[in-house]
Amino acid sequence: MCEELKPCPFCGGEDVEHLLDGFGNWLVGCVTCDYRIQCVDCTEDDAIRYWNTRPAEDALKAEVERLKADNERLKKALKKIDDLTFMPRNKDEVLDRTWHITRAALCTDTDAPNMNVAAKESEGEE
Ligand SMILES: [Zn+2]
Repeated sequence: MCEELKPCPFCGGEDVEHLLDGFGNWLVGCVTCDYRIQCVDCTEDDAIRYWNTRPAEDALKAEVERLKADNERLKKALKKIDDLTFMPRNKDEVLDRTWHITRAALCTDTDAPNMNVAAKESEGEE
């Protein structure tokens, strides 16, 4: 079973076709910009899989997802810090909690383990 063809990696065109050439090799190409690949001695599925393989694009998508998760975590931290200012607390307590919230927000599982301790402590204070 063939997977669906991704759009053209160069122009983004979605009009992509695959067909056999006169020598029995699979061609996959963009109708818009005429970029095409030829897959010699392979199956139709292999040709489509080859066309759809985009390591740089996949890495960028993964990075975007990681940055979105970072952004959400930092927004939540800023909201917690902002909420602190509405509660009657002394300045040192606000500073201490701000420090813990900031440390927790900057920590990820891949960061130093001692920073994650600060994150857990901060969560426990809520
Ligand atoms: Zn194209």
